[in-house]
Amino acid sequence: MTREYGKVTPEIVAELRGAAGARNVVTDDKDTMENYSYDEAGQLFGHMPDVVIRVDNTEQVSAVMKIASKYKIPVTPRGAGSGLAGSAVPVHGGIVLSLEKMNRILEIDPVNRVAVVEPGVVTNELCKAVAEKGFLYAGYPMSTETSFIGGNVATNAGGGKVIRYGSTRRHVMGLEVVLASGTVRNMGGTIRTATWGDHRGQRRAGSDGTLGIMTKIIVNLEPKPGKVVNLLTAFGTLDEAVDCVAKVIRSGVPIISCEILDRLSTAITCRYLNTSLPYQDKAAAYLIIQIEGDTDERLEDSYEKVGKILMDGGALEVFVAESRTESAAIWNVRQNLAEGARNYDPYASLSGDLVVPLSVVPEMVAESQAAAKRRGIEMGLLGHIADGNLHPIIFKPKDMEPHHWAEFAEEYFEELVGVAVRLGGVGSGEHGVGFVKMPIFLGTKSDEELAILRGIKASFDPDNIMNPGKVLGDF
Ligand SMILES: Cc1cc2nc3c(=O)[nH]c(=O)nc-3n(C[C@H](O)[C@H](O)[C@H](O)COP(=O)(O)OP(=O)(O)OC[C@H]3O[C@@H](n4cnc5c(N)ncnc54)[C@H](O)[C@@H]3O)c2cc1C
Repeated sequence: MTREYGKVTPEIVAELRGAAGARNVVTDDKDTMENYSYDEAGQLFGHMPDVVIRVDNTEQVSAVMKIASKYKIPVTPRGAGSGLAGSAVPVHGGIVLSLEKMNRILEIDPVNRVAVVEPGVVTNELCKAVAEKGFLYAGYPMSTETSFIGGNVATNAGGGKVIRYGSTRRHVMGLEVVLASGTVRNMGGTIRTATWGDHRGQRRAGSDGTLGIMTKIIVNLEPKPGKVVNLLTAFGTLDEAVDCVAKVIRSGVPIISCEILDRLSTAITCRYLNTSLPYQDKAAAYLIIQIEGDTDERLEDSYEKVGKILMDGGALEVFVAESRTESAAIWNVRQNLAEGARNYDPYASLSGDLVVPLSVVPEMVAESQAAAKRRGIEMGLLGHIADGNLHPIIFKPKDMEPHHWAEFAEEYFEELVGVAVRLGGVGSGEHGVGFVKMPIFLGTKSDEELAILRGIKASFDPDNIMNPGKVLGDF
């Protein structure tokens, strides 16, 4: 069922200007508005908003929501727009409510081990600020230098440290949320256990902005790890790299990260960065492994143990990063894979986000490759492999029309989601559902599950104005 939403009239724009300040409300600057019409899923998935509002504070968010609720105008919350599932795209037009100006770190509380932040804080800025006080914020999506904490919570972002610390939901201690009605709700804070309900607001994590707008987030801080070392391991075959992962994880060595990059994704990213990795001419795949240890001796024992497992598993070579510069160079390749892919092909589709149990990762990889081959498309593979979270990237054949490609790419991913589900996994590990993945998501849920989810949504947002057309769609 598609709802009838209100139209944004000049009178409503005047009310919105009164609520959020005239300078924060954009309606007639097409170039600016276009920047808010798409995310990293690509411009092919874009939709123009009627209004963009860049709010300064919770009061403005609440005032905007009261107006939106009165006139039934759709509202799409937006963080940095780095999402890969079209979650921040205003598919029904209306208001894009950007949290980019709410970007202050309000408090770092060393006793309760929490930080209180506004949603527009860039993830890496929080990481740096708490590191100066001896803490670790353990969220680490590969978009850490661009994405915002609010977007990370809304998508339950994963990333390079999930195997050790879990995904963003685990780091949420409390929230301030503005509901569709404009009501401001606070939940959680600094207590770490309770049997009374969702005391930390963690159920909001992963709701893709469909249950309210987070205006303050209280996150858990971990003690900063003592010493870490990064290993780069080159393999002659992808299968050998994949096979080593479970052995490394069960070795008992404290692993913080374990990432995989195949030949194609490495080549295009190194070309984009004008750099290279050792053994690049022979390597079919690399594992990047980060290990923790409290003393130099323990760290050395650990990486020797892991190094032996890798060499026994067929590695061509294991390189231990000797300095921060070497470590940064390795991670730079991993963090720039999306840019490398887009540089290679502006239509590269990055929306693959499959998760399967570690035991069936080899099958998932093989089926992803076989499906790409059947369709005659080039595929690169990367991912947070220790979590069983794989991101196949596919590239548009030169002779295919772009509008046909979006559909073609989603059909490919739909097939892979079917494989992931058959293997005991799911079709989105960390990027959210948005509207790009919505048909696949709906297709894998039972009627009972959907009825429960729709009931929750309706209780917070009876008119479905909060990011409509996402996750559960229009109902
Ligand atoms: C190069 C690259 C690497 C990436 N690596 C990873 C990775 O390793 N792991 C991973 O999980 N993702 C990754 N992503 C995807 C993306 O960065 C994450 O989904 C990120 O969490 C999105 O944050 P954002 O601030 O850009 O949110 P946006 O894209 O702006 O929005 C995402 C969703 O959050 C909602 N939202 C944003 N702010 C709020 C708020 N304050 N209140 C309520 N809802 C809100 C939006 O409505 C939307 O539904 C990567 C993307 C790129 C481009």
